[in-house]
Amino acid sequence: MPLEVSTPIQFVKGVGPTRARMLTKAGIETVGDLLGYRPFRYEDRTNYRAIGELRAGEETVVHSQVVVAGNYTTPRKRVRIFELLVRDQTGSLAVKFFNQPYLDKVFRRGQHVVFFGRVQFDEYSESMSMLNPEYEILDEAGDSGIHTGRIVPVYRRVGKVYTRSLRTILHGLLSQFDEKSLPDSIPPGIRKRYRFPQLIEAYRQVHFPELPESQPRQAFLKALEESATPAHQRLIFDEFFRFQLGLKVIKRRRQLIPKERRIEINPRIRQAIMSILPFHPTAAQKRVVKEIVEDLCSERVMNRLVQGDVGSGKTIVALQALVVTIENGYQTVLMAPTEILAEQHFQTIGAILEHMPYRIGLLTGRVKGKARKEILSAAARKEIDILIGTHAVFQKGVEFDRLGLVVIDEQHRFGVMQRATLMQKGERPDTLVMTATPIPRTLAMTLYGDLDLSIIDELPPGRRPVTTIVKKEASRSEVYSAMKRELAKGRQAYVIYPLVEESEKTDLRAATEMSQHLQEQVFPSLPVGLMHGRLKPEEKEDLMKRFKAGEIRILVSTTVVEVGIDVPNATLMVVEHADRFGLSQLHQLRGRIGRGPEKSYCILMTDGSGTADSYQRLQVMRRTNDGFKIAEKDLELRGPGEFVGTRQSGMPNFRFGNIIRDRKLLRAAELEAENYVDKIVEAADSEEHLARIAETWQDEFGLYEVG
Ligand code: ADP
Ligand code: MG
Repeated sequence: MPLEVSTPIQFVKGVGPTRARMLTKAGIETVGDLLGYRPFRYEDRTNYRAIGELRAGEETVVHSQVVVAGNYTTPRKRVRIFELLVRDQTGSLAVKFFNQPYLDKVFRRGQHVVFFGRVQFDEYSESMSMLNPEYEILDEAGDSGIHTGRIVPVYRRVGKVYTRSLRTILHGLLSQFDEKSLPDSIPPGIRKRYRFPQLIEAYRQVHFPELPESQPRQAFLKALEESATPAHQRLIFDEFFRFQLGLKVIKRRRQLIPKERRIEINPRIRQAIMSILPFHPTAAQKRVVKEIVEDLCSERVMNRLVQGDVGSGKTIVALQALVVTIENGYQTVLMAPTEILAEQHFQTIGAILEHMPYRIGLLTGRVKGKARKEILSAAARKEIDILIGTHAVFQKGVEFDRLGLVVIDEQHRFGVMQRATLMQKGERPDTLVMTATPIPRTLAMTLYGDLDLSIIDELPPGRRPVTTIVKKEASRSEVYSAMKRELAKGRQAYVIYPLVEESEKTDLRAATEMSQHLQEQVFPSLPVGLMHGRLKPEEKEDLMKRFKAGEIRILVSTTVVEVGIDVPNATLMVVEHADRFGLSQLHQLRGRIGRGPEKSYCILMTDGSGTADSYQRLQVMRRTNDGFKIAEKDLELRGPGEFVGTRQSGMPNFRFGNIIRDRKLLRAAELEAENYVDKIVEAADSEEHLARIAETWQDEFGLYEVG
């Protein structure tokens, strides 16, 4: 049976049932997945570095033969070391592995081994050495052509399938395809315009690159490492193009279906809006409200993303959309990411809408039993106009009579798309997503291509930028003096502690000890509160209320205050271990202060143990308050992977592409997709056909799970 891209991997030569299981577990299920398994680096095994010419500090590949090998334990620190002496014609090298005694079963005298690692000068033996390098034992007989004598791909292992096996499997697999059996995945016109190689040729060159005659070796190796060869570029473009096309198909599909609601605006509704505004909106707020209202009144369902930096006043914008919808006789939902934030919205919105006849309900995970039942039945009977809550508002059993608008607040992860997808099931309400944007504008437009974008690029008048100061541990007493001065003026302060899952217990202890220390030793006469994620929701809420009311003057907290919390009298924030936070997170945290008319200060504490990157991050914070600039810098310093956090983030899974490094290709792919999407939509013979395209697409880019 000839292989196809969709053939399950167990039919591939070299993949038995055990390997198939391991690969499948890692998401490599088909021949296509396997072809798309990217080498994470390359080794030039035509041109090894001679041992006699190695220099300390360089990272390199050597080809050597094992002379002796054995385990020993260091006398003082009792570390188990497995050491090899290896040589080539030019010299010998010591290779050491810590705590891997089983290696004496792996290495034999006389073996040919390739090592990849950093070269060091070993003081004891006064010779060059490598510590814990990557290695590959060569089998002289069958190796030439696949594992040596060429530039070879190095893969990350998948379960127990190591780079060597993957290389063999892929080498065999590639030989079974040609231009006809592996149809191209992008339209030929586009491929020719960009002078991209055919798909099969691109896969061949990415897995088993051949040095082009026209290019010097070093330049080519560099291009390989940077994914800049034509083959890489073609595969990157390929997935960006399909990604963009998918987004656009989804968008077109939505536009094809008219919405059943009729929303209109009239003098009475205008009057209602005017009556709720507590202040004059900024020009940016007005513009965005206008864009939203146009969407609401149009014949298409709204899917709009509102980006606005922390404090730009997104809440009141959303509120106006809610009023328009309610006045037209529909129900609305406002979803917040945390219970604290949902509570806060419930209170502030309740206060702003006090004079309106609207019925507002609160539904979070902890509304249970009878109270929950009542809320649910009220929502279903249209006795609630605004349901405010956490994601609990979308759980099973929550139904509405006439749902017209869903607002999702402070959605600053890439999960936006999943949420938007979720929304289109069922009732097709208008959807407004609000984010304080760690995503640069151009990137947002590309990644959220299925949403329309509105930007609030102006802060309300009278805001004074927060002054940010970086302080070393040695100046702690100065920091306390500064706190005392602010607190003496009647202000309040946050002291933020990092809390990461891996070291949650110790982090929590540090925060607890800090709050005790501050209360007992430093500020005995001022009430100090301690807030963290482990508290019961009632306790959190109570703390928040007392902090808002000014009863608590200093709030020691983990990052649970990260989003949305609004206490204008808090004018000072001390961030402990600031180098442990990402830029976007620091920006979100800092957004908790500088919300009132008084000048605010943010003090970033560092013990100086951070990396060069973390030092740079703190300097960026010191220099700018602009969320867009910070987001751009964050992406640059950390790369898109970490940018959104390690957890399932809803970020598209690109195999070859990197949205920052390859942003030009991303943009090109977007333009091409825009030109091409009509062809797809016209060719699709039915609504279901389009739905299927959208579904495969979500599947491919891992956008299926709803965060
Ligand atoms: P965010 O965009 O971070 O959600 P909020 O909606 O919480 O911002 O608004 C931040 C603060 O600014 C709130 O206290 C809000 O009342 C105030 N605010 C919003 N818009 C204006 C405005 N046009 N003029 C004055 N204050 C405003
Ligand atoms: Mg907000």
